[in-house]
Amino acid sequence: MQALRYARATSIDEAVRMLREGGETSRILAGGTDVIVQARERRRVIDLFVDIKHISDVMTMEYDAQRGLTVGAAVPLYQIYGDANVQRVYPALRAAAHVIGGKAIQGRASLGGNLGNASPAADSIPAMMVLDGVAQVAGPNGRREVRVDAFCTAPGRSVLQPGEFIVSLHFAQPAAHSGNAWERFIPRNEMDIAVVNAACALTIEGDVVTAARFSLGAVAATPLMVPLAAEALVGRRLTDETIAAAGAAAKETATPIDDMRGTVKQRKHLADVLVQRVIRAAVEHARAN
Ligand SMILES: Cc1cc2nc3c(=O)[nH]c(=O)nc-3n(C[C@H](O)[C@H](O)[C@H](O)COP(=O)(O)OP(=O)(O)OC[C@H]3O[C@@H](n4cnc5c(N)ncnc54)[C@H](O)[C@@H]3O)c2cc1C
Repeated sequence: MQALRYARATSIDEAVRMLREGGETSRILAGGTDVIVQARERRRVIDLFVDIKHISDVMTMEYDAQRGLTVGAAVPLYQIYGDANVQRVYPALRAAAHVIGGKAIQGRASLGGNLGNASPAADSIPAMMVLDGVAQVAGPNGRREVRVDAFCTAPGRSVLQPGEFIVSLHFAQPAAHSGNAWERFIPRNEMDIAVVNAACALTIEGDVVTAARFSLGAVAATPLMVPLAAEALVGRRLTDETIAAAGAAAKETATPIDDMRGTVKQRKHLADVLVQRVIRAAVEHARAN
């Protein structure tokens, strides 16, 4: 582990000031489940951790049936998947939060950290993308909003500028008759990085899909939106054929690599299978709504 300094911010402005003064080698510390490992293995040069867990906006979660859900960037995952409104309205988010690491990790790890780490295989990012997630970002030039589907730019990289950090993540209240779902494939039951993950949010009128969003993880350099899968489904009746067409579009869109976790062929196949599964699960959720 490299020697480094620790600073505890108690307000958003103080965190921004600490990050600015710390320069390029300062990092936000949320749960620490990624960044402490990276510092210990010297995968990143860090000389200052700015702890944001003592800032109330970053640690609170609010739900309102009109406005939707706002989750502080450092709220631990167990609070998110344990929340009755998240379970009822945003099952894609619940499912992703529930599988990240194990119980010990979930007591610390956060959505802001999962997004800030910008891994192509991050489990919560596809769920946040299909739920139209918007990050509230604070920085030296004030506040701005960044859509989660435009956040990651390359493995480990994002649109955040020096001194900026995510304060919270907002998810609008879904329209009536909407559903969402998230799935991943790993070769064992838990504590592994996704070979592929997939999320879907859709709206139906009877048997016709009127809106749909799809996202895939671990099939490209960043988590990916899949508009071709949405095109295959929107305006059409839900049948085995249209669901299969959306799966085929996901397979076509995926541009994975071979690595120790899976091959290109396996990942493309999984993109197809998982997209078909999340459609069926999201439809079930929509019908129950
Ligand atoms: C044993 C183990 C199992 C794991 N399993 C999974 C898994 O199944 N799926 C998965 O996706 N991940 C997994 N992870 C990775 C990790 O737990 C997640 O990415 C987690 O969500 C990170 O959150 P954190 O709060 O701990 O982030 P931290 O480690 O505190 O931060 C991660 C990165 O994001 C930055 N950051 C943190 N918060 C913010 C913010 N608010 N604004 C801007 N930048 C920020 C930090 O500076 C750092 O660069 C695992 C890790 C371990 C150690």
